[in-house]
Formats: sequence, structure tokens, C-alpha cells
Amino acid sequence: MPQLRMPAVWSEAHRLHDPHGEVWVGILIPPLEVPERGEVIREALVAAGAPVVAPKPHPRSDLAAVHDPGFLAHLESAYERWVDAGFPDDPGQDRVVPYVFPLPQSFGAVPRRMPTAESARAGWYAMDTTTPLGRGTWEAARAAADAALTAAEMVLGGEPAVYAMCRPPGHHVGRDFYGGSCYLNNAAIAAERLRRGGAGRVGIVDLDAHHGNGTQVIFYERADVVYTSVHIDPDEGWFPHFMGRADERGVGEGAGANVNAPVPEGAGDAEWLEGVDRLCEAVAGCDALVVSLGVDGHVDDPESPLEMTGDGYAEACRRIGSLGLATVLVQEGGYDLTTLGGLVVGSLAGFEEGRGA
Ligand SMILES: [Zn+2]
Repeated sequence: MPQLRMPAVWSEAHRLHDPHGEVWVGILIPPLEVPERGEVIREALVAAGAPVVAPKPHPRSDLAAVHDPGFLAHLESAYERWVDAGFPDDPGQDRVVPYVFPLPQSFGAVPRRMPTAESARAGWYAMDTTTPLGRGTWEAARAAADAALTAAEMVLGGEPAVYAMCRPPGHHVGRDFYGGSCYLNNAAIAAERLRRGGAGRVGIVDLDAHHGNGTQVIFYERADVVYTSVHIDPDEGWFPHFMGRADERGVGEGAGANVNAPVPEGAGDAEWLEGVDRLCEAVAGCDALVVSLGVDGHVDDPESPLEMTGDGYAEACRRIGSLGLATVLVQEGGYDLTTLGGLVVGSLAGFEEGRGA
């Protein structure tokens, strides 16, 4: 077992979020983004000797630097309003799950107005039906964002690298929409905090098996945050489906500041590490870095068709660490409970090696 020096921010509040199930193509299926994830990661961090610290609570303004105020108010109150509307008893659904979505093309030139029924309001900010919002989801999401913010502040204070165990994860969340088992965009919140703390340009390297559509959209028109991602090609039929192609390069001031390296089904370490090299090149001149550390591209992970190994993840993080940038590593996906802890610790150890710590 490798030993870690870098601090790890971890909060037991992640346990408050238990999706219970997710509705996929109309069927209730067992969730993979489960509380056990946060526990196996903590066990591995402790076994590796990482100093585990609790996140500091942060004001709403740190979230509003990334997210729309109406969106935040919705996430905070949606569960209570769902209960008040009686859905846990009739029809017997105790998680907020939408059934209609206000697609832009359904309005034309007609103004979009918030509906009154909670069943319809549930679709206003949600991009899918697989991201149920229950009792404690808001508190857990808030604690995950606090972990990312705490890690960013430790890095601004001089720590070379800090890991934040963010659960629920965040990279599928945009300014005013959530989905993909994510509620608040922890990586974007950390990047924004680093910017406001004085980093002129922040790079984001997203290693999760899936494209971070939310993070991409948030920074797509900006030059001061460079979003880069290696992921399963959405054209091979994988979530988030609508985004993640190589020709999405950013627009306006952000032109050229978005780099996608999609890889095909069955891609292993060699192909994937080529993509990682392209991301490293794109963020090399930045003043600080956020790593969206998803490890669900591992060969044993049930959420992707990629075939990376633990050595591949360690090597990717070694290359990222060798950039020598002040870095916040934020947990994203990773769903095989038997390998998850080792993959996270192995990745962080690789980073420290590359960094020369
Ligand atoms: Zn993922």
C-alpha cells in the first residue's frame, strides 16, 4: 500500500445522500452512487496514512459564484416541497423524480414560466430521471462542495496538492441544471475559488470515464478556466450523450480553451494515456489545476466500457503531478467498491511521485 502525504478532506455528511434507486428508461434500478463509496475511500486513505481533515462550512456565495441562485434555492427546498405535496404517500415516491422536462423547443417565442405542480417543477432544473433528490441530498451535496472549497483554500494557503472526497460527485452539473448522479459542480466551484484566490488561469483535467458536460458548459466561453477531458466517446452511445466531442473547442473568449479527447469502447491504458498527454499539454501554462478524479474507466467498473488499470491511473496522475502546478483533486465517479479505494490512493500516490513530493 502506497503512503500519502497530501491532506484529504472528507466529511461524514456524504452519508446523508442515499439515492436508493434510479429511474432508467422508466425502470427503477439499483443505484451505483452509494454511501459505501465514501466509506471505502476513507478506509483506503487512512490505511495510506493520509491526514484526513473535515471541510469548513462555506457561505452560499461560494456556490453562487458558479450556480444560479434559483437553482440553488430549488435544490435546497425541493425535497421538503415534495413531501408537503404528499408524493411519499401518493403515489409512494419519496425521492424527487421529474416526469416532464421544459425543452427549449417546446416554447418557441413563448416565455418559459415555472409551473406550480411539484411533479412538474421537478423537471425544471433536472436533465434526467436517474438523479433522485431525497432527504439529506442537499446537505450532502453542500458538504461535498465545502470539501472542494476547503481543499482549494488549503492550496491557496500553500499546500502543493489536496484531495477532496466529494460525494455526491459533480461534473455533470451546469450553472442551472443537475443530473448524472451529481447536484453541485464541486470541480467548477473549486476552480472558481482558485481564480478568486488569485490564480490567473486555472486548468481542469477531467479523468472520469464520462465527459464532464456540466463543467464544459460552465466555462465554455471563458479563457481563464481551461477545461480538458479524456472520456468514452459519446458517439459510442455513452452518457452524457449530447456532449464531449473533439470538435467542441470553446467559443468567444473561450475559443481553444476546451479540449476533449474521446476514446473508443475497450480503450486501455495506452490509448487513454495518449489522451491524458493532450490534456496535460493544454493546461501546462496554467497557474493552478483541478483534477476531476473519476476512476470509473477501470476495467472492473460497471459504469463504463473502458479497460484502464490501476497502473494506468497512477501513471496518468504521475504525468499530471509532474506539471508542478498547485492542484486540487476532486472525487468524481468510481463504482466498483472492491477496487475503488485502491484506485483513488494509487492515483494520489502517482500524483505525489510525479510532483516529486
Ligand atoms: Zn463517470
